[in-house]
Amino acid sequence: MTIIDGKLTAKNLREKLAIEVAEMKSEYGVQPSLTVVMVGDDPASQVYVKNKVQQTQAIGMISSEINMPANCSQSVLLDQIKALNHDSSVHGILVQLPLPHHIDESAVIAAIDPNKDVDGFHAINSGRLFNGDLGAMVPCTPQGCVLLIKQHLGGDLSGKHVVVIGRSNIVGKPVAMLLLQENCTVTITHSRTRNLPEVCRQADIVVAAVGIAEFVKADWIKEGATVIDVGINRVITHDGKYKLVGDVDYQAVIEGCGAITPVPGGVGPMTIACLLKNTLLAAQATISKRSV
Ligand code: NDP
Repeated sequence: MTIIDGKLTAKNLREKLAIEVAEMKSEYGVQPSLTVVMVGDDPASQVYVKNKVQQTQAIGMISSEINMPANCSQSVLLDQIKALNHDSSVHGILVQLPLPHHIDESAVIAAIDPNKDVDGFHAINSGRLFNGDLGAMVPCTPQGCVLLIKQHLGGDLSGKHVVVIGRSNIVGKPVAMLLLQENCTVTITHSRTRNLPEVCRQADIVVAAVGIAEFVKADWIKEGATVIDVGINRVITHDGKYKLVGDVDYQAVIEGCGAITPVPGGVGPMTIACLLKNTLLAAQATISKRSV
């Protein structure tokens, strides 16, 4: 049984990206830059943004942060995004979600220039991914899942049966599309799926993105299957402390599966690393436009 080390894989990816960033700077004088827009002061979002800023700078990219008050209006936020769209020194724009309730998230995502949409949530990018267009900005967590699967199973995933649990636009649907592109047979399941344990037992690879702590049980997993646990759930332990657990009953599932990602230290670290990869791609695209 292998515990898939997302922390190490993410570190290796960041090291490769750092080399490409340095080359881009010396060859073209371009330093990739990411701007994170945060509205309000949600503590969890502040922690994520701090990590993003740190890791962006650590690989030699420019990181900027725009903090807007929780009561800022939607139109002020949209104006800010327009300004960033027009600023040629900004390659990637990320609006930290969730946004306060008075702001329509889909309108905000739609306002981001698709070429700077490093989260990959814009409908143009979802459409490109759906069409199998290699130029799509692919959402970061699904990208991270696929990199971990490919690294563990040796690259060729043709014919593998994958069961994805969850159909969100952020994780479930895009990870299913990416795995379809890898020639997997993909089953997407959700809250209305019948006989979910039985469906899961047929899978060579299970991707759990449900948002329910320890939801996937040991007897749902075929012996030797690869299990990718996307879930991040905060639960209270017996002694009243908090800990993070995934969507998979990890301690039970490790007994029979072939490989599994831990929580924390599995998919999570890959998400930010893939965000940096998208930022580099966005910057590279501006150079290829210039040279055409
Ligand atoms: P959503 O809440 O948007 O989607 C959850 C999905 O799970 C839905 O499609 C829902 O089905 C399905 N579901 C809910 N209950 C059941 C059930 N009983 N049986 C089968 N399917 C069910 O969550 P996200 O996709 O945004 O996130 C999923 C998890 O991944 C969360 O724990 C989140 O914290 C984590 N996450 C981790 C990231 C990382 O960086 N590691 C990044 C993003 C998310 P239906 O559509 O029918 O309602």
